[in-house]
Amino acid sequence: MADCIFCFIASGDLEATVVAESDTAVAFRDQSPAAPVHVLVVPREHHESAAEMARVDAQGVADLFALVGEVARGEGVETTGYRVLTNVGADAGQEVAHLHLHVVGGGPLGALLSRPRG
Ligand code: AMP
Ligand code: ZN
Repeated sequence: MADCIFCFIASGDLEATVVAESDTAVAFRDQSPAAPVHVLVVPREHHESAAEMARVDAQGVADLFALVGEVARGEGVETTGYRVLTNVGADAGQEVAHLHLHVVGGGPLGALLSRPRG
């Protein structure tokens, strides 16, 4: 897709710190890490969300998670634990409209959601 930075990274046209890759997916360090380990796992093909991708390429979604496992092993968090999350749409604050799984870890991550108190 034109003007998509993660398409550019997946095709090698934009530099990134790639930590793992497969035929269908690429894993690279987030440029603004939120945890000691913060890697983004993206499909080489442009898809907007995992749900949308699952409808047309379920194997591709499975491949993404296989690469997540490889990243976790490579980053040394497979046994200590890590979190995988993907933002979808405006309310989640999705900034890049190319499906990406955030793989974060390397220390205690705290609660997933902050809940309003009252
Ligand atoms: P999201 O808010 O889920 O769309 O997350 C987008 C993520 O992409 C953010 O954590 C950014 O720091 C990260 N990001 C944006 N551009 C780049 C880039 N060129 N290389 C690496 N990470 C990036
Ligand atoms: Zn894209």
